Amino acid sequence: MVERRLSGLPASPGLAFGPAAIFRAIGEATRAKGPVASERQTLADAVAAALEAVTALAGSLEGEAADIVGFQIALLDDDALTESAYAAIERGEPAETAWRQAMAEEIGGYENSDDPYFRARSADLADIRDRVLRHILGLPELTQAKTGSVIVGEDLSPSAFLGIDWSQGGGIVLGAGSPSSHVAMLARGRGVPMVVGIGPDWRSVFGVIVVDGAAGTVVTGPSPDSVAKARSQAGALGAARARAEARMGEPALTRDGTPVAVMINVAGMADVAGFPVAACDGIGLTRTEFLVEQALRDEALQYELYAQLLGWAAGRPVTIRTLDAGGDKPIPGYTIAGESNPFLGLRGIRLSLRHPDVFRIQLRALARAAALGPLKIMLPMVTAPHELEQTRALLEDVVGELLTEGGACALPALGIMVEVPAAAMAVDAFDAAFFSIGSNDLTQYATAASRDGSEVAPYADVLHPGVLAMIARVAAHGAASGREVSLCGDAGGDPRLIAALLRAGLRTLSVSPGLLAVTKAAIREVELAAPGPAA
Ligand code: PEP
Ligand code: MG
Repeated sequence: MVERRLSGLPASPGLAFGPAAIFRAIGEATRAKGPVASERQTLADAVAAALEAVTALAGSLEGEAADIVGFQIALLDDDALTESAYAAIERGEPAETAWRQAMAEEIGGYENSDDPYFRARSADLADIRDRVLRHILGLPELTQAKTGSVIVGEDLSPSAFLGIDWSQGGGIVLGAGSPSSHVAMLARGRGVPMVVGIGPDWRSVFGVIVVDGAAGTVVTGPSPDSVAKARSQAGALGAARARAEARMGEPALTRDGTPVAVMINVAGMADVAGFPVAACDGIGLTRTEFLVEQALRDEALQYELYAQLLGWAAGRPVTIRTLDAGGDKPIPGYTIAGESNPFLGLRGIRLSLRHPDVFRIQLRALARAAALGPLKIMLPMVTAPHELEQTRALLEDVVGELLTEGGACALPALGIMVEVPAAAMAVDAFDAAFFSIGSNDLTQYATAASRDGSEVAPYADVLHPGVLAMIARVAAHGAASGREVSLCGDAGGDPRLIAALLRAGLRTLSVSPGLLAVTKAAIREVELAAPGPAA
């Protein structure tokens, strides 16, 4: 086989070396149609296979996840679900079209329900639809990818990423995608090497490949020489990482002795499994849209999840961000479907204030958990001071309600993300207890370069003087007003950007747990007084 080198964009550093597992999105894929009897059998076999797969999954799950799978099993087991699909097959439709149409009706019914519980269940139905479709069309399920293999496809959703077992290594190569997308962020957090934006060439990738996530390159059909080089590079990377990890527990001081606090970003307890809590200064960001997506109305479960994080942090601050749904993090039944530009639409706090019923549940769970330790509430996508004040009023109201009920609770510190340029420029208009700069969104909005678009990724530059000036402005406001300013976007964990961020005045960073060691190592290299990119 001839060696071929493909270039894309670096999205998550590290070297992966393994067999390509091609992941094709289902889209409108079709197959050759057979006689009616065989189409009927194809659908029956696919439903049976999907039922078998979810039943096998059920054994290993607990709590909310077990409920979801239980719901899916019950649906797949119910003939009512397949009735109209079989009727369409009798009318001459191929199995995949019949199934798509039947499920579209079913999903539409759930999406239009007045009951938010059923609206939220529409995502579970879509999952069943896709499982069955994969069997009909002969497309492999992502979870069947051999562990350690490199997932290759057009794009990958955050939920698909979370469904893959990365414990044996592996990597990701995408035709589309962007280094600042949420799936790239998850990959960096888990240390999964990732290259995005290689274009249509992803379709021709097969066999064993070498992925260099830092250089943004993919080598197919690698020669023995390339394999040897990849092995020695992986060894060098591993050694540098080991050196950084050996000092992970030490505080991070710049060369000239300025201390920098380093906290971690999490999306749930799975992110801190095995992580030494003493190595970090607390949790600077908890993304709850992944954590409570299936528990929007379940106060008890949310309380439990927040309490677990506080328990883990053992007295260190735990910053929990209220739901930041929308943009590239849709929650079916909650976010608005079909927005022409979701990143500029109803997301984050805008959506929470539109759904006070759901928002109150989250605030109640947070105020109750705040009785257990230093929990801080952080609001995403804040644009105007009235959003902070409206939330403060709601929070005070739920705390009053909880006190009347006689339950334990506390009024947590209320801070905001600074990720909308207008808020950064007018930061002193916000009476927030603390500020955390969301450099991912701040950069996409300030540079007019969508965080999920590979074509415009080079424009989304945190080192752009316009972006650095906003970061410096927020840091200066924090220093002058005595309020903590941190940065929890991905830039904080990028060794190439850390010097500029510290020179802009930041003294607290919050990064993926997997990047804490390299972040501290990069901080130790910074000479604050030395000339360099400044704001
Ligand atoms: C950010 O925008 O930098 C941020 C931390 O939030 P998210 O990536 O979840 O949008
Ligand atoms: Mg953001």
